[in-house]
Amino acid sequence: MGLSVLKFGGTSVASPDLMLAAARRVADLRRQARGVAVVVSAMGHTTDELLELADAINPHPPRRETDMLLATGEQVSIALLAMALHSLGIPATSMTGPQVAIRTTASHTRARIRSIDTARLLAELNAGRVVVVAGFQGVTDDGQITTLGRGGSDTTAVALAAALAADVCEIFTDVDGVYTADPRLVPDARKLERISYDEMLELAVLGAGVMHSRAVQFGQRYNVPIHVRHSRKNDAGTLITRESPEMENASVVGCALKENLGRVSLRDLPNKPGVDAAIFNALAEADINVDDIIQNEASGGGMNISFTVEHRDLADIKPAMERVLAECGRGEQLIDVGLSRVSVVGLGMRHHTGVAAKMFTALADAGINIFNITTSEIKISCIINRSDGEKALKAVHAAFDLADGQPTTIDTLTPMRSVRV
Ligand code: ASP
Ligand code: MG
Repeated sequence: MGLSVLKFGGTSVASPDLMLAAARRVADLRRQARGVAVVVSAMGHTTDELLELADAINPHPPRRETDMLLATGEQVSIALLAMALHSLGIPATSMTGPQVAIRTTASHTRARIRSIDTARLLAELNAGRVVVVAGFQGVTDDGQITTLGRGGSDTTAVALAAALAADVCEIFTDVDGVYTADPRLVPDARKLERISYDEMLELAVLGAGVMHSRAVQFGQRYNVPIHVRHSRKNDAGTLITRESPEMENASVVGCALKENLGRVSLRDLPNKPGVDAAIFNALAEADINVDDIIQNEASGGGMNISFTVEHRDLADIKPAMERVLAECGRGEQLIDVGLSRVSVVGLGMRHHTGVAAKMFTALADAGINIFNITTSEIKISCIINRSDGEKALKAVHAAFDLADGQPTTIDTLTPMRSVRV
């Protein structure tokens, strides 16, 4: 018997009607004699509402208690979805993360899945029942409830598909698939039929909100095809899959915008060994990710360093960096807010030259100033003013001919011959 893992996001189960519609989809698949495991998120805006509730009680709640609270959202959904399935004559059993034994690290509110015990799941599936598993939650070795970070139900679903060796993980959501850019910002964005794990991972990290990046990593590591599609349509969505040679034909497959970034600049630090180590150890201790690191010599013989962070991390960074400056005995900290990052991503970049030039020209023609540039093998990112974000995204989308109706594989950039060996 084939096995599918289906995941329904919060918007796809936001009301009783939607919950029943999701159940009908599960029932149809089950009646085709397939085993079905379903992962579900909290209904609608439940998680946000729970966070607001917590904030009204205590603006700095212990993270363990935040997890205890947030995990309730998914527990409501699994019970209701199981009830909906029973109403359609489909036997189903709901299970929380701890009941399944989805073991995670102990890092509350941002835990990572370490293992999934498949014994109880398989017992239910073998008995012909659909299992309905709470997304986004797990349990530590000593029995603490954890959550996986916002959007973490995707990761539960793909990890479950990997653990159960399912044929596919279908992510049902409120969009038709993965687009060349966020269609709310770029109306002529095109839906992609396929995209590689690497490209999707870059896009997810760079701000395309469709998939949780850890989920894509799991998919890649265990080679689980991930099908992202609309929960109320029958059309195929986007398949996230292993890379194939023709995927390199286009230099860029998509672009993304990440807003609400800030830049921390530390000026006139001592120019000696150990200073960078002190800064980055302090950031690591605070569990903060930084990007776009630039370091250079200051005029008076000291050194300057700057990096980009998410706005919400600034409150933790400021005191941490003040402590580092105090240890150094010199230097000052400056913080800029109101920045965004616009990025282009594509496997084809490995073999095409001129991608950076094309992107920078598009931004220049739109009158947009670039503050900083970072690249990887398959992406180029520019830090810009937040107020330029939407314009920048539209400009690069147009420059790479990503719009609807454009051919997907013809590219006018020069292939880089030296690499094609
Ligand atoms: N309910 C959680 C959230 O809103 C997890 C998820 O939706 O994937 O972040
Ligand atoms: Mg959600």
